Order: sequence, then structure tokens, then C-alpha cells
Amino acid sequence: MSAIQATRGTRDILPEEIPYWQHIEAIAREILGRAAYQEIRTPIFEQTDLFARGMGEATDVVSKEMYSFQDRGERSLTLRPENTAGVVRAFVEHNLQAQGGIQRLWYLGAMFRYERPQAGRQRQFHQLGLESLGSADPRADAEVIAIANDWLQAIGLKNLRLEFNSIGDRTDRQHYREALIAYLTPHKADLDADSQDRLTRNPLRILDSKDQNTQKILQAAPSILSYLSPESQKRFEQVQQLLSDLGISYRLNDRLVRGLDYYTHTVFEIQSDDLGAQATVCAGGRYDGLIAELGGAETPAVGWASGIERLVLLLQKMQKPPVKALDFYLVSRGDRAEAQALKLAQTLRQTGFSVELDLSGSAFGKQFKRADRSGAAACLILGDAEADSQTVQIKWLASGQQASLAQAELLANPDALRQQVQTAQTEA
Ligand code: ATP
Ligand code: MG
Repeated sequence: MSAIQATRGTRDILPEEIPYWQHIEAIAREILGRAAYQEIRTPIFEQTDLFARGMGEATDVVSKEMYSFQDRGERSLTLRPENTAGVVRAFVEHNLQAQGGIQRLWYLGAMFRYERPQAGRQRQFHQLGLESLGSADPRADAEVIAIANDWLQAIGLKNLRLEFNSIGDRTDRQHYREALIAYLTPHKADLDADSQDRLTRNPLRILDSKDQNTQKILQAAPSILSYLSPESQKRFEQVQQLLSDLGISYRLNDRLVRGLDYYTHTVFEIQSDDLGAQATVCAGGRYDGLIAELGGAETPAVGWASGIERLVLLLQKMQKPPVKALDFYLVSRGDRAEAQALKLAQTLRQTGFSVELDLSGSAFGKQFKRADRSGAAACLILGDAEADSQTVQIKWLASGQQASLAQAELLANPDALRQQVQTAQTEA
């Protein structure tokens, strides 16, 4: 029988890749915690309608990319393609706005989109994102961007670029939409097929087209910035000023619109040149219209989402995995020694040390080879002679120094032992 493989567009994250993920996640927890963000975990599937209303029927995600299915109760459900809609649903359902003030929430989890798989683009992928719910203050926009910036920098990423734009409020966009349709309609026949299709359904999305001919036509297209009301324009300038005050550099990009319907004012993307076509590692903006759209009270909000796979790809190009050092590798041979070794391993672990116990029962020579490869600070050796005398041999792997000591002595002063282990690990 042939073996079953992972489904197209999904992949296993094997242990050797995990240190990158843990590094990215640990720094996120640290930085988000410092900014008073709280984690939220919402279901992986929701009613299809939530995404249809939250993202808009005309978006690519809703029209082409959703994993929707009927469950046994004939409900139409969808694996979440993104998590803003889910967070907002939870916010409304649990009346979190009643708690007053701003809700600062973050999440991490798998998202699902039916797309053509390629490097940095999968059908199951992971996003870490945040939502700042309840403030229309331009400082809220600058704050979420600053947090993304700090996080990506602290991870160790370089050469990132912040692209920044405003798409104004609903009225501004309506005017711009009409102007764009008016400009593009005479060129309709020369647009790529997708863009022709979007011309009436979602014309702003045409600005995202990768088609060269379409891009050429777009060069002379009107700019959203000419359609901002004086208030929207002022708000746009305020956020820019705040970013400058924070020392965050950005590039204005009036072609940046994002594919989602509920965005207002601020839109931004953080991009890298080292990822080929899948350049965006973090994308977000303000979505003042969404919460009312999903049945809540009119609530201003701003947030972003970042694709973790793309961050891992960047990190893998730059650095070796941040390895977690092992304290001890424990080898044993002989009936009495093997029984005692398990006990010694457990006692050491309960005292706070990391211990890999060799379970192979093979000759000492083979076990020593594995000890060398394990990256442990020291190898602990138990034969029946040691077991009978309640002793243990300790061999520091970097220096080769070896000693015999009573097991009780090994555990008598954990602080001193920790110190020795750390010294050995810095030598290695
Ligand atoms: P793209 O233009 O790359 O399709 P998008 O506009 O669909 O991106 P968003 O919905 O804004 O992306 O999602 C935010 C981030 O999530 C993206 O910038 C990207 O880093 C990541 N992301 C989105 N779709 C995928 C995917 N299919 N595989 C891996 N990461 C993804
Ligand atoms: Mg997409």
C-alpha cells in the first residue's frame, strides 16, 4: 500500500524548524505583553456568513479561497481564512466593549485559504495578529505599527520596508471608486481577465494586479489621495507625523489598498525584498466599519496580521536555529544501572536540569557517540558498578574532564551544578 502524504498546500513543521517558530512566538508574547495586549483564542471554524459579511463577497478570499463545507447538521461552516472577523464576533458576542476602554487583543493560529501553493503561500498557514478595538485616535494606528516594527526587529529581521497609505472613509472611497471605474472602463479590453472581472465588483483590487499591461494602464490612473476629504487628509498626516516622531521610516504608496472591504483610513504593509513574489510579511489597517457590520455598536478599530511561515523563511536565510542546549545525556548499561538511570534522570529533571536518557541498551561505545552528538554539557555514566556504590561518572564533553562522585553529591548543590553546566555550555 502506498503511504499517505500531507494534503497539497499543507506541511509538517518538523522539530528542526520549531526553534524558529518558538523564537518568533516568544518575542511576540514579550512585546505584546509589554504593550498591554491580551491573547484571545477563537474557534478555527465559524459560520460561513461571518466571513462573507466581514470580508465582503467581492474579495478574492470570499469568492475563491474559502474552505467552506456543510456539517452533519447542514450548517454552512468555513475554516477561518483570517481572524479579524472571528475576534470581532467574539468581541460583540461577549460584550467586551461594555468593559470600557480599549480592548487590545492578539492571536496566533492556523488559517486556511484555497490558493495555489508556492514558497511562502500555503493552504494552511499561520498568522499572528493583533486588534486594537475602541479608539479612533491616530495614536492607535501609530501604536500598532510601532509594535509590529519592534517585534520584527527584535526577531532579528533586517531590510524590511513599511509601505503606508490612506484610503479615507467610506465616502472618499465611494468617490474614488467611481473615478477609477470611469478611468479604467475605456481600457477594459486591455486589462487582464481578473481585473476586467473586478472592474464592477471590486475595482480598488485592480491596483494589486501583477499583470504588466494592467500596471501600465494604471500608471495614469487617479490616486486615492486626490479623493481624501480634508478631515481624512489631516488624519493621514497626523499618523505620518507620529511615525516620524517614533523614528519609524515609511514609504507612501498610494496604490496600496488591501483586498478587504471594511478598511478605512490607514492601510499598511511591511515587506521584504528577500522573499520573491510573496513579499508581504505583515499587513493591516483601520477598519472602523466592521464591528457595526457584524452587529456590534459602531466601534473604531485598527489591527494587523503577519504570516509566520514567511518570517521563518526569512530567518532561515539569515541565521542558524536558536538551539536550546541540553544539560545532560545519561548513558547506562546493566540491569541495576538501567533502573537507577531512569530514577536519576527524573530526579535531575525535577531539580530543573534537562536530561536525555539513552534507552537503547546498546554498548557504551555507541551510547557515548550519541552523547557527543546530543550537544549536552556533560555525559552521565552509570554501569552496574556505579549502581552498586550509588555513584555516577560525569564527563564534561567540551573539556573531556571526567570524575566519579556520589549521586547524592551530584544533587547536593543544584546551584553549583547549574553554574558548572553553564560554564561548560559557554565553552562548547
Ligand atoms: P497576499 O497578497 O500575499 O495574498 P493577502 O493580502 O491575501 O496577502 P492578508 O489577508 O493581509 O494577505 O494576510 C496577512 C499576511 O498573512 C500576509 O501578508 C502574509 O504574510 C500572510 N498570508 C496570507 N495568505 C497566506 C498564505 N496563503 N500562505 C502563507 N501566508 C499567507
Ligand atoms: Mg491573498
